[in-house]
Amino acid sequence: MKLAGKVAIITGAGRGIGAGIARAFAREGASLVVNYNGSKDHAEALVAEIVSQGAKAIACRANVGRLAEHDGLIAAATNAFGRIDILVNNAAIDRRAPFLEATPEQWEQVVDVDLKGPYFLAQCVARVMVAANQGGAILNISSVHDEQAHRNNSLYTIAKGGMKLMTRCLALELASHRIRVNSLSPGAILTDMNRAVLSDEAYREKVLSMIPLGRIGNVEDLASAAVLLVSDDGAYITGSTFYIDGGLLL
Ligand code: NAP
Repeated sequence: MKLAGKVAIITGAGRGIGAGIARAFAREGASLVVNYNGSKDHAEALVAEIVSQGAKAIACRANVGRLAEHDGLIAAATNAFGRIDILVNNAAIDRRAPFLEATPEQWEQVVDVDLKGPYFLAQCVARVMVAANQGGAILNISSVHDEQAHRNNSLYTIAKGGMKLMTRCLALELASHRIRVNSLSPGAILTDMNRAVLSDEAYREKVLSMIPLGRIGNVEDLASAAVLLVSDDGAYITGSTFYIDGGLLL
């Protein structure tokens, strides 16, 4: 097992891509803190599923956009498992609006959850890793829109663009502490975030026409790459952004 003995915090892990990554990490032997904000039932059900399969997991509520709630997440991990080896900054929201109509309130909502929260949560986790002198891995779940502009979705796109450079900056500063920092940038992966828009046949066909591999991705497509980037298989990878998009950016 590639993550035996490792402890991982995964934000927004009650559902969607975060839940897929949690299942994959548990299969590889990691102990998990399954963070959620609103989806308590989903998170607790996932924890029960993981525990029933012989791995260790706890659920912990925290709004990653509120910096005051980060300490609770760190304490949950260290109290339950004694250490933190991996952080996955997965939680995110979008607030779609044409640029001419976007509001400062929307800016704050998106940037708090998608950029400021991940930055300062990574700082909290890295401080624990540095104090323990143990190394570690931070994985940011970004988006193809860290590279590609997205009409009527500038707030999310700008936050993800910031996350891409955040990955590089943190990788540079944390390398001497043996902490690797990478991004996974998904293309179109079927989850609650896009289920409604992808159920529109015309929109779905338009998206499919842009994906050379000819299908919408699933959470398992991302989970295997996540395991690579946080395990020793990825020991020489830091500061990288991996696009998991079926070739969409091509
Ligand atoms: P999703 O199905 O909409 O789920 C979003 C997750 O984020 C939920 O678990 C939610 O938790 C959590 N979350 C939202 N606000 C939070 C907060 N303030 N504090 C803590 N957790 C919060 O999204 P997804 O598709 O799985 O997306 C996961 C990641 O992949 C995101 O970073 C997203 O930008 C990225 N991504 C997804 C796609 C795609 O096609 N699906 C494409 C590109 C990038 P609660 O339900 O508990 O509130």
